[in-house]
Amino acid sequence: MKISKRIVAILQALVIMVLIVLSYNKIQVNAKVFSFRQKPIKIAVFLYNSNDTYISLVGEGFKEIQKENQDKVEFIFYDGKNDQSTQNDSIDKVLENENVDLIFLNLVDTKVTGKIINKIKAKNIPVILFNREPADIDSIKSYNKAFFVGTDAREAGIIQGKILANEWKSNKNIDRNKDGIMQYVMLMGERDNTEAIDRTRYSVSTINSQGIQTQEIALKICDWNRDTARNVMDSLFSINGNRIEVIISNNDEMAIGAIEVLQKYGYNKGDKEMYIPVVGVDAIPEARKLVDEGIMTGTVIQNPNTMAKVVYDMGMNLVYERKPLDGIQYDFDQTGVAVRLPYGEYTG
Ligand code: CA
Repeated sequence: MKISKRIVAILQALVIMVLIVLSYNKIQVNAKVFSFRQKPIKIAVFLYNSNDTYISLVGEGFKEIQKENQDKVEFIFYDGKNDQSTQNDSIDKVLENENVDLIFLNLVDTKVTGKIINKIKAKNIPVILFNREPADIDSIKSYNKAFFVGTDAREAGIIQGKILANEWKSNKNIDRNKDGIMQYVMLMGERDNTEAIDRTRYSVSTINSQGIQTQEIALKICDWNRDTARNVMDSLFSINGNRIEVIISNNDEMAIGAIEVLQKYGYNKGDKEMYIPVVGVDAIPEARKLVDEGIMTGTVIQNPNTMAKVVYDMGMNLVYERKPLDGIQYDFDQTGVAVRLPYGEYTG
């Protein structure tokens, strides 16, 4: 009896081992067949404007991902050139002629989100919108293969406000007319854009919440553009130059345009007596360098590679029918379809 029991036990162990080996081989075989069959995943990337430094850096991030995944993915880039009808044409062409598996969409005009989602939905292609906040988040909810990766627009403004409040408290020279009030110029990206509105509002409200009074000398819409900001600041400075104490810019490009004008008038060249604080958003390399040199006061970091990576990982999850946030360290916000990447302060 004892011996036969032992034999049974040994047999059972053997059977289990054989099963394990068999199932392991099966997994291996399946994986091989699967990867052999796969053509590269074709991804159409629509950028709102490749002249936007931050956006071009996100594009570089995608190109880097492509380099690391040569046989796995193929990105095709389309530049909207800051014009929605140009972007519409590319989207229509891609939906008609290109057999893409996935779409990454950085809209020019975020008011058309619903219309474009419907077009993509009709083709059953997964889409990740990124960077520019859709005017209508419900249109994303209406398609179960659509998600958004952005930031919390208020957070960028809050960080700008904190940087300026600290600067104000630590440097009495900023208050040039010694009235205890911070006279500022606001360079706004666009009038109707959520990021622009929130950055504008929360930078100032954060300064006020720290007990510092503010007075707006001018608010100028500069289309996120350096040249526009330079022109605007040039005419502003020639009239109000001695009244401007601080420049708040919705992004680094416009902040740098403003700094070029300040320098033309002898400011922000290293002399602490001739210094007007300027803050931006995006932490593009040029801005970081200016901050490191003490010429620009600070900027807000939004890592373009993190943006590219999260958009990519989420998109690939959709292609392979995994959960959208599988392997991603962020959660959805209260909408259940949007991921908000955190900002950081950059003051050198
Ligand atoms: Ca003042």
